[in-house]
Amino acid sequence: MPPVHPLSRRRLLRHLLSGVPLASLFTRAARAAEAPLLAPDSPEAKALAYVADARSSKEAAAGNHCGDCALYQGPSGSTRGPCQIFAGKDVQSAGWCRSWAPQM
Ligand code: SF4
Repeated sequence: MPPVHPLSRRRLLRHLLSGVPLASLFTRAARAAEAPLLAPDSPEAKALAYVADARSSKEAAAGNHCGDCALYQGPSGSTRGPCQIFAGKDVQSAGWCRSWAPQM
């Protein structure tokens, strides 16, 4: 399913008609598009041995990283994006954790 753009024409038109300053819509859209990065030293990251760079992990198989994991939800070619395991956080595309799963 293609990603839904946070500023669809319908939403933009509805917002313009509401009289609320346009800048607030863009600020909210930017906030929604980028979650805070997962800190490798956070308890949830440590529990799954998450690292921001897969090459620094002794457990990660060569070449495996978040960007090619089935649970990564960032767009192709992105440097960071959401992960189904760590809700509300972005992970580095170059990162890795023990839940890495191959794409089907
Ligand atoms: S589940 Fe996949 S995308 Fe999420 S942190 Fe682990 S390796 Fe990265």
